[in-house]
Amino acid sequence: MAQEPRILRTKVGIIGGGPAGLMLSHLLSGAGIENIVVEKNDHETIRNTHRAGILEAQAVRMLADSGIEGRVLSHGDEHSGIDLRFNGESHPLDFRELVDATVTLYAQNEIFVDLAAARARDGGDVRYSCEVTEILDVESNNPKFRFTDANGAVYEVHADILVGADGSRSFARRQMPQSTRQDFKVSYPFAWFGILTEAPKSAPELIYANSPHGFALISQRSDSVQRMYFQCDPNENVEDWSDDRIFDELQRRVAGPDGFELKTGPIFDKTVLGFRSFVREPLSHGRLFLIGDAGHTVPPTGAKGLNLAFADVKVLFEALDSYYSTGDDTLLGGYSQQALKRIWKAQNFSYWMTSMLHTPVGTDPFMMRRALGELDSVTSSTYGQQYLAEAYTGWPNS
Ligand SMILES: Cc1cc2nc3c(=O)[nH]c(=O)nc-3n(C[C@H](O)[C@H](O)[C@H](O)COP(=O)(O)OP(=O)(O)OC[C@H]3O[C@@H](n4cnc5c(N)ncnc54)[C@H](O)[C@@H]3O)c2cc1C
Repeated sequence: MAQEPRILRTKVGIIGGGPAGLMLSHLLSGAGIENIVVEKNDHETIRNTHRAGILEAQAVRMLADSGIEGRVLSHGDEHSGIDLRFNGESHPLDFRELVDATVTLYAQNEIFVDLAAARARDGGDVRYSCEVTEILDVESNNPKFRFTDANGAVYEVHADILVGADGSRSFARRQMPQSTRQDFKVSYPFAWFGILTEAPKSAPELIYANSPHGFALISQRSDSVQRMYFQCDPNENVEDWSDDRIFDELQRRVAGPDGFELKTGPIFDKTVLGFRSFVREPLSHGRLFLIGDAGHTVPPTGAKGLNLAFADVKVLFEALDSYYSTGDDTLLGGYSQQALKRIWKAQNFSYWMTSMLHTPVGTDPFMMRRALGELDSVTSSTYGQQYLAEAYTGWPNS
């Protein structure tokens, strides 16, 4: 006989305990709005998953100013520019000088540690190792979802509002009726081969390199751990790549007459990261709202995924706060439209950076030269540099 679910009642039921779900939960609790977060994975798995690292100033402020007491200001590494490298030459962009803004390198798993600790400290109801398997009645005033915990016990969360913060393969997203939604997407004929290596920094700023052999990104984690990526085939097998082969490939993509050389060390993590651009419209249906990767995905070139997730959280939190303090649901009704403005700007920026810096296999030589012309136009003009700098560091007023 099917098990009768145990009923839990709350105001906001959040599916997914990634950065978007935990940040929303934290802000809601701070405003006295009861909520429950249900997360499929255990704490250790999320803590050990290496993902984003580049935070816009707005995301840093959210972490620093909302009472999380995290380490973003003490342990984050503030960067005031990047280096665009093409034709074997460096073209530094100074964000502080161009648009008076910076970004901060602070790894997503550290953000998770900070958010999870703040939720635990404040008595937040976050249930790890619990998978949501059913979402019901989102068109009614009493929407609910069911989840099963690690021991097989079934629960039903009854709430006023449900939030899908369950990442790029979102279960919540699939519950919205086909007739009310539209999906916009682009796929790319390449992926990124990502590594973590125990090595010193190769350069003070991140290097984005366009080369005839394909794109490379030389990024950082700390003084002794570096993150590097190179463009690869989406079906590439990490087992086929020895450490030496990986560094040879990276080196030939950043090489130039200036003799630039990567600093190398043992590699302890290798992954192939698929690429796509995706947006769901609208981001809500009835009483179900999507935030973060559940509603949109960007290729990582512009480092916008986590930043957009936090931007969605800000818009949805303000709408929920207004609803619970005044009973007026106007902002909730406008959530999707408001969030989509920034999402489409970020989609454009991520697509632009991706197409300007990558070289798909078999690319027409005209297209390769065209991309170099575009890089030259951007780096040789103050306006071009400012356009890139403003987008990379995050549009201040949207
Ligand atoms: C290698 C890599 C590098 C990146 N670099 C950057 C960068 O530099 N800057 C940047 O801004 N972004 C970057 N991103 C993107 C960024 O990591 C994501 O945009 C971000 O994680 C989105 O947060 P989220 O909370 O929306 O989704 P997620 O972090 O995916 O969290 C969703 C959570 O929902 C849970 N879940 C899923 N289904 C269920 C279910 N049915 N029931 C319960 N829980 C469920 C999942 O376990 C997961 O923990 C990168 C991504 C990758 C993969």
